[in-house]
This record gives sequence, C-alpha cells and structure tokens, in this order.
Amino acid sequence: MLQRLRTFLRWYRFYLRNTGETACPGTFIAEVTYHCPLGCAMCSLHAGKTGGAPPRKETEELDAEAWSSVFAQYAHMGGRNVLITGGEPTVRRDLPELVKAAAQGGLRPHLLTSGYYLDEELAEHLCREGVASWHLSLDGPDCVHNAIRGREDAFERMTRALECLRQATARRGGRAQIVLQCTVTARNQGHLADTLRVATELAADTLIFSHHSFVEPDVFCAEAQTARGENWKLAPELRDVDPEILRREVREVDSMRSQLPRVEWSPRLAPDEIARWYQDPEFAVVSRCFYPWQGVSVGAYGDVFVCPMSPCAGNVQQDSLAALVNGPGLRRFRQTVARAGILTGCQKCCNLRNRLWRWIPSRPRRGRRSKAPGGVNE
Ligand code: SF4
Ligand code: SF4
Repeated sequence: MLQRLRTFLRWYRFYLRNTGETACPGTFIAEVTYHCPLGCAMCSLHAGKTGGAPPRKETEELDAEAWSSVFAQYAHMGGRNVLITGGEPTVRRDLPELVKAAAQGGLRPHLLTSGYYLDEELAEHLCREGVASWHLSLDGPDCVHNAIRGREDAFERMTRALECLRQATARRGGRAQIVLQCTVTARNQGHLADTLRVATELAADTLIFSHHSFVEPDVFCAEAQTARGENWKLAPELRDVDPEILRREVREVDSMRSQLPRVEWSPRLAPDEIARWYQDPEFAVVSRCFYPWQGVSVGAYGDVFVCPMSPCAGNVQQDSLAALVNGPGLRRFRQTVARAGILTGCQKCCNLRNRLWRWIPSRPRRGRRSKAPGGVNE
C-alpha cells in the first residue's frame, strides 16, 4: 500500500506542476499485433485500433528487434513491467522472442491472450522465456463464451491453453499465476455466477469482472476527433443490460465468495449504480483522470499513445520512447485532461475506476484550489 502511494506521488508531482510532463509511466502496454482469429462481439479492434481498416500486413508490424529496443528503452526509463497483448499476441510466431527480449531488457513480461493458439509447444517456449503472469479471457460458460467470441472452439482452446500453461510451469518447478478476465455485457449478464463456477473449476487465481467500457455515440466529444478514435461505442445488443438481472448475479457472486479465485470488479458498482453505468451517459465513478501521467501504450506499428482519447505521440521508429512520452502532443493532452477533470465521453473508461482518485486534490486553477471532492470540470 505504502509502495503504491509512493509510486502515485511520483506522477502526482508532475500532475500538480501542470507542464504536461510525467515520470516514467508505470503501466506499459505493448500491442504487438492487431491480427486475431476471434471475432468478439465487444471488440474495439477493427473499428478502433486499426482506424476502421483491416489490420495491415504482419510485415508492417514492429519486428522482434524493434520491440527489443522499445523494451530496453522503457527499462532504461525506469519501467519494470510490460503487458504484452494485441489483437491476439499468440498469432505472432516470434512471441517467445518478444517475451525473451522484454525479460532480457530487465522487464517482467505479462501476457494477455484468448489462448486460442496457445498449445503445449508455445506454452513451453513462453514459460522458458519468463512470462510472469497469464491473463486469459473468460466471458461465461462454454456456450456463452463461444457465442460472444464468435468461434465454436474458443472455450475448448482456452481451457486447453490453461492446462498447457500449468504443465509447462510445473515442469519448471513453478506454479502459473492465472488471471481470468470477464467483460460484462448484456450477452453474459445472466451468467456471472456460472462464470465464477467455471473459473473455480479451472482453478484460476483471480477472476476480474469488468463492466464494459464505452462512450455514448452522441457525446463522443470534440477531443476524441483528434484522438486515436478507438471504438468504444457499445452495440445495442451488448448494452441492453437489465439492472435487475445484473444485481441478482452480483449478489450471487458475492454469496459464493471463496478463497480461489479471488473475485475483483472493475469497477465495483453499488446496486443503484448498475443501471446508471449502462444508462446514464453522465455517470462516472470518479470525475478526474490521472491515467495519462501513469500509462503508455505502443501499438503494433510503433505508434505511441496513452489511451483511446489521447493523440498519437509519434512513432518509436522515428523517435525515442522517452522523447515521445514527454513530447508536445502528450504534454498538451495531459494539460487538457488536468483542466477538464475528465473529458466528455470518458465517463466509462476502463482506466477511470479507482474511487480513491476522487479524494485527491486536483491542481489549483486561477490561483484557487478546488474544495469539492468530485464533479466533472471542477
Ligand atoms: S480476442 Fe481480443 S482482439 Fe480478438 S476479437 Fe476478441 S477482444 Fe478482439
Ligand atoms: S478517462 Fe483518462 S485514460 Fe480514459 S480515455 Fe479519458 S483521458 Fe484517457
């Protein structure tokens, strides 16, 4: 806890200075490809990360050598962890090489995957290269999971992947740390307790229920027009949540609390907040965002950005990561966020879920410090 506070204060000092600069971001996401064999109902991939076009050819993605340089730069800046994701990272044949490069660069590599291509051989290579934790998607019991993921064998392959990871880690005398992630939408709203039962059978360490991130189409704001424009618009079939059903499931999950898996909610919503999350565009659990000071992502083609609303800061093939993190584009963006508290359309952002943030003073404006602990645009 103390360590987390110290870490937060490192960035918070920069936030208060309001120069738009920041210390080395603690969250580093490497989106190593935008290809994926699945077609998840709630995926932002095709409409968002690739700018609405199909993913470019694999040959246009950063190669292992380029990623190796990016990882080394991040470690040199003081970074410690990297989350390797996509798209689906296991479509890259050189994934073990990327993991090795991260580990050799001094980072702890974590992997977020659907597990679709994670077989015995790949699990063996990835374990050997030092993946620190495994994050796999689980959207419900098999039929629900498969329907959401758009493949009849998605569940079977995910469970096979888990087994391969377990065995490969055990062969090295270790124990795989497994985090399962469930995105909550109308498609699986009635199956959350069942999802916990499945996660228990799979002996996961943690199950995270994440309420879906989205923005209202009619409030997709002016700031977003200049941003990466990731598609956060929630299709009606996903959004049509019945708060009663969801409340019932949350109660049941709560009543099933067990030692393993540990259950987390992102965010944890009070019963009266469940309807507001899906139906009230203005509702946010916190009303100021500190994430742009704490996180950075590098995309498959080398573009650097902070979050879906941030502009692209440039490309690691032209500039150093350190220069881009504190370049003019991201500095201006952080200043805009500091002024606004949160931007229009950000209310349901997945990075905006730490309720402690609402008690942290925002920077003084016009010579006066705001007294109110919440409220947009304070
Ligand atoms: S596995 Fe991930 S990247 Fe692939 S379609 Fe599903 S959400 Fe999108
Ligand atoms: S809430 Fe913060 S992290 Fe999320 S999109 Fe908005 S500015 Fe970015």
